[in-house]
Amino acid sequence: MSEPRPRPVLATIPAYRPGLPSTNEEHKLSSNENPFPPLPGVIEAAAVELGRMNRYPDPGVTALGEVLAERAGLTPDHFAFGTGSVSVLFALLDAWCGPGDEVVYPWRSFEAYPIAVDLPGATSVRVPLTADHRHDLPAMAAAITDRTKVVLVCTPNNPTGTTVGAEEFHAFMAQVPGHVVVVVDEAYLEFVRDPEALAGADALARYSNVVVLRTFSKAYGLCGLRVGYSIAAPAITESIRKALPPFGVSDVAQAAALASIEAEAELAVRVASVVDERTRVVAALREQGWDVPDSHANFVWLPLGDRSAEFAEQVRPISVRPFPEGVRVSIGTPEINTTFLERAATFLRETPA
Ligand SMILES: *Cc1c(COP(=O)(O)O)cnc(C)c1O
Repeated sequence: MSEPRPRPVLATIPAYRPGLPSTNEEHKLSSNENPFPPLPGVIEAAAVELGRMNRYPDPGVTALGEVLAERAGLTPDHFAFGTGSVSVLFALLDAWCGPGDEVVYPWRSFEAYPIAVDLPGATSVRVPLTADHRHDLPAMAAAITDRTKVVLVCTPNNPTGTTVGAEEFHAFMAQVPGHVVVVVDEAYLEFVRDPEALAGADALARYSNVVVLRTFSKAYGLCGLRVGYSIAAPAITESIRKALPPFGVSDVAQAAALASIEAEAELAVRVASVVDERTRVVAALREQGWDVPDSHANFVWLPLGDRSAEFAEQVRPISVRPFPEGVRVSIGTPEINTTFLERAATFLRETPA
């Protein structure tokens, strides 16, 4: 008997394994979530749309697109919306890459990248980070071949929190052929306090082959509703829109995103408090003796190498994200951050290297 079988590439893609359910959500420092509830006015705006759930959402995401376009000084045909910026990235790679094409990206970086690249049959070309946990842009430029279709740049980088500098990015772009699409993933833009960092908006203004990715999941705290978008030249945007599933972003999510933008004064206060906590956590960890890179995101990186899994085990019930190279710890409420710092100190004291 013959059996149905998916494409062989599926065997190389890890199955989704949900994190351990936590008895206390505040203990979850493993997904870079926002510790704050929705911004003022957001639940009310979303509730109005909940009452209309018998209707399909606006497929053009018109109102949100107009507001964002006006703020960026662009037209709405530069914006493509999806259920999180991850789904916009999947659509982009679907539209631009197939078997034989290469996608260059830094590694370690965002876990969704290898899946988004490998699924359409393209080849991942991973370029190791530098010793100080940053993108190695000269090596990434050198990795570009005739087969390269897309390059992914993540600033700040998930999971290390390091930024890509504006100057090094421009030097990199001078070496990238104009037909290669360069994605600048700015999921953590609002948390950046590095004056030398690349601004995706500047890259867009200068290069017609740049695609910027933004999301309402992190600073805006809407990850449960799934809204993200790309900004790019209209022709690239059209290609992404064609590859996106239709009616992805619900009217509830669209209304919540709009109301969140209107609450930007409170957003700024909350982002500043996360940045203050990040400063406190990094300083305390360094005081304890940890080697922590400067972070410009809502998490910090502990380069623990092969002790990462052991560390993650020790800090429970706080849940953090271990990788083979280190551990990523999201900034949570001040109380949980303090508890985390105590556990990190205990680990250094009691667990011999
Ligand atoms: C969280 C994150 C995203 C966006 O996630 P969505 O919830 O799909 O919008 C994109 N890129 C990076 C690097 C992230 O960490």
